[in-house]
Amino acid sequence: MCWRDAGGCQCRAAMGVSRLCRPGSWLLLARRGPVPKVTTWTHRSFRTSITLLKQDDFTKILSNELEKVHKKVKDALPGSDWTPFKSMDHLPPEHADIVIVGGGVIGWSVAYWLKKMQTKKKAYNVLVVERDTTYSHASTVLSAGGIRQQFSRPENIQMSLFGAHFLRNINEYLGILNEDPVDVQFNPSGYLFLSSEKGAEILEENYRVQREQGAKVALLSPEQLKKKFPWINTQDVALASYGLENEGWFDPWLLLSALRRKALSMGVLHCHGEVTGFNYVTQEMVTSDGDPVNFRRIHEVIVQAQNSLETQPVECMAVVNAAGAWSSKVAEMIGIGCGSPGTFQEFKLPVEPRKRYIYMFHCPNGPGLDCPLLIDSSGAYFRREGLGGNYIGGLSPLEEEEPDHSNLDVDHEYFQQKVWPLLAYRVPVFESLKVKSSWAGYYDYNTYDQNGVIGTHPLVPNFYFACGFSGHGLQQAPAVGRAVAELLHNGQFTTLDLTSFDFQRFIFQQPILERNIV
Ligand SMILES: Cc1cc2nc3c(=O)[nH]c(=O)nc-3n(C[C@H](O)[C@H](O)[C@H](O)COP(=O)(O)OP(=O)(O)OC[C@H]3O[C@@H](n4cnc5c(N)ncnc54)[C@H](O)[C@@H]3O)c2cc1C
Repeated sequence: MCWRDAGGCQCRAAMGVSRLCRPGSWLLLARRGPVPKVTTWTHRSFRTSITLLKQDDFTKILSNELEKVHKKVKDALPGSDWTPFKSMDHLPPEHADIVIVGGGVIGWSVAYWLKKMQTKKKAYNVLVVERDTTYSHASTVLSAGGIRQQFSRPENIQMSLFGAHFLRNINEYLGILNEDPVDVQFNPSGYLFLSSEKGAEILEENYRVQREQGAKVALLSPEQLKKKFPWINTQDVALASYGLENEGWFDPWLLLSALRRKALSMGVLHCHGEVTGFNYVTQEMVTSDGDPVNFRRIHEVIVQAQNSLETQPVECMAVVNAAGAWSSKVAEMIGIGCGSPGTFQEFKLPVEPRKRYIYMFHCPNGPGLDCPLLIDSSGAYFRREGLGGNYIGGLSPLEEEEPDHSNLDVDHEYFQQKVWPLLAYRVPVFESLKVKSSWAGYYDYNTYDQNGVIGTHPLVPNFYFACGFSGHGLQQAPAVGRAVAELLHNGQFTTLDLTSFDFQRFIFQQPILERNIV
């Protein structure tokens, strides 16, 4: 028998099946034996059915319904798991003001800042599209979680200083009423850069810039270094720089979750799907030299729902490319890097996935609690992991050694042949280390100058980049999210001027020089 209309379902009832008559949903219940007579009601037929019910039945039904309403209200109160956006997960909305491609730490940071900046008059519908909600390949969750001020470029230092401020005050930014405070398990500990005679001058120059920018860093002579960290072999070290404040490491997953949760609580929409293309309009213009230039304006993002061949266009005002190591693929969807030679459209977004290994090893007699994140003059690095004599470390390969990035398999020989000898030379007690585990992740590697790309494309003015951070994007995420949101909200940077990180530097050959790329 049908809940809504017994008459409408007679033939099915006769066949021993019933239909739950919510539009579009059929629930077929196989039934054995004769069809029992059931008196029931729906929201629609409540008034007519009620006259047929006895007083007792009515009270019972009413109290059941009241209980349901009570539960719904309780679930919706702050502190519960309920969210009005859950049902949206698999399906994008038809419209959003701003669509963010990629739900890693950068994408969620942009979404959070947009919501934080919005006003009643200027409010945004923000949609984050993420194709893999397990984040199995995302750089964010596979990173080493480090934050440092020791860069050579003032903007990078400022971004990390803001990152440290954000982490210190994380509950003022990401705390949610009636929920447990956010704890990203920040472990304060300085980075220690070691330099040979050859690099000492540069280390000193970097130190001066860092101090000018307000970073607390100290230079150490080999003797001072030996005194502070007696377990280091200082033989070919000419100078060291050591972060005194605002450096260390934290859990990247916890930061990502906190940003995501806060942004959702502020009304950001999330969709589990893949961006596969854009619909756009083209406007042809002519330069003063008479050359034709095509401008494009995206008006729809095509989203393919997860595990489905169906695609849905989402009408929008602007798009943010926060697709990490896959950002250049997303840029190609709007024709960036696909133009004929000699045109602006020819310039690719020079960001690609580069595989990096992290090895976790155990060394019971290793450096103790006071172990910095050491970056050797050779490029090898390590830091303490927890308190049980464990460490993580690695080394970026030379250009000609770049491993195949079609999978995330770890090369264990690379540790034996390349990394271990360097670590054991610098810290002799590491001769006896034992590798316990390892993993690989993708750097969102900018092949042009290893720095982030922030801002719009000159020919696609409503397409914003937030990608290419090449191994330091996690710590820069709070500042990058704020910067991109400022561009969208105010049309310009208002806190930290990041103009030099825009796409035009690839066209006009103006690389950003950053000496401390690890
Ligand atoms: C081994 C390693 C160590 C690192 N160590 C540090 C460190 O110590 N400190 C530091 O600051 N940084 C570090 N990094 C770098 C840092 O992790 C990245 O710069 C940062 O996480 C980039 O964040 P993201 O959100 O741009 O990218 P991701 O986290 O990769 O997120 C991008 C997301 O976009 C999604 N996506 C891609 N294409 C599409 C599409 N078409 N449609 C929908 N979704 C799409 C992907 O599924 C992905 O989840 C490290 C990275 C690695 C690999």
